[in-house]
Amino acid sequence: MTIKKVLVLPGDGIGPEIVTEAVKVVQAMALPIEWEYGLIGGSAVDAVGIPYPETTQQLARAADAVLLGAVGGPKWDPLPRFQRPEQGLLAIRKDLGLFANLRPAVLYPPLVGASTLRPEVVEGLDLLIVRELTGDVYFGEPRGIEMRDGERVGFNTMIYRESEIRRIARVAFEAARRRRRRVCSVDKMNVLETSQLWREVVEEVAREYPDVTLTHLLVDNAAMQLVRAPTAFDVIVTGNMFGDILSDEAAMLTGSIGMLPSASLDGAGKGLYEPCHGSAPDIAGKGVANPLATILSAALMLRYSFGWEEEAAAIERAVRKVLADGRRTPDIAAAGEPVVGTAQMGDAVVAALR
Ligand code: NAD
Repeated sequence: MTIKKVLVLPGDGIGPEIVTEAVKVVQAMALPIEWEYGLIGGSAVDAVGIPYPETTQQLARAADAVLLGAVGGPKWDPLPRFQRPEQGLLAIRKDLGLFANLRPAVLYPPLVGASTLRPEVVEGLDLLIVRELTGDVYFGEPRGIEMRDGERVGFNTMIYRESEIRRIARVAFEAARRRRRRVCSVDKMNVLETSQLWREVVEEVAREYPDVTLTHLLVDNAAMQLVRAPTAFDVIVTGNMFGDILSDEAAMLTGSIGMLPSASLDGAGKGLYEPCHGSAPDIAGKGVANPLATILSAALMLRYSFGWEEEAAAIERAVRKVLADGRRTPDIAAAGEPVVGTAQMGDAVVAALR
């Protein structure tokens, strides 16, 4: 194993608390990792006036992977746009060329009651959404609001280059090879030319992966199938806007925001790993935040940036074990169940690794 450099960006709110636990878990495995720390978001604004400072940029570019807590909070809400903590997140994603967002949605058996779906529908859920992050109607030009024939008209451009489709498709097929070897591509090809090209290019890429099964779904049907039969999915690959909506829908299937990790990849090994939730200012500093989404994000880092599959799986097994043993932070505890704090949950995962 070669030595990997990880930049840790704790961020704001519960960020420092949950990141501490994730680092604790990975350090307990005695892996060849060099850790560095930097500022991002509101804490960077407080220190140097901008949310993605030059020193953090240099550390991020030199790192093999970035582990991030969360950014933002009411303290920084009144600031002008360039100083808003979320701008730091957008800037680091752009700076590192992170075009693929991976969000696993896994239902852990002891938490089946947290889902709004019936247990028999959602039991065994284990899917991965691969969302394109830098293109589509969110960034397409021309865009704007203008006067036409005496009334205001708003317009955006949905656009994908085949190179953009090809690279996100490859990420999805590669991810499927580490899982159950099935990719479902989601588009709207019955109405949109962008989607017709999307489907053609995904099928071309699929020929490079004869061991992976490719299917297609129209986005409206995909939204239905996600709540009707979510366990039928393995990897879902889709564009920026459809992925934005479907990944939140998939997140809700599990019912617990404190459990959901994410990875944003550049396609060449570098990645930014963070929980799907925000900085939870309402519980910051109380030692009650659930660190599992961040711990699971660190597992994704070992898998997708470093190729350490066994170590990643060991962390995921340890998380399953602590849940099976009944450890619960308040956000995932049923009424009357005993709860543990952030650090105790981290300690329990470390103990379960052994
Ligand atoms: P949030 O995800 O921070 O919190 C929503 C609810 O979930 C809160 O009740 C919170 O206490 C709870 N929660 C979230 N994570 C939890 C955890 N690990 N353990 C236990 N409970 C948890 O979303 P919000 O309240 O809408 O946003 C708060 C701040 O976070 C805002 O400033 C927002 O801009 C920012 N935010 C940042 C990110 C990010 O850094 N990627 C993402 C979303 C929101």
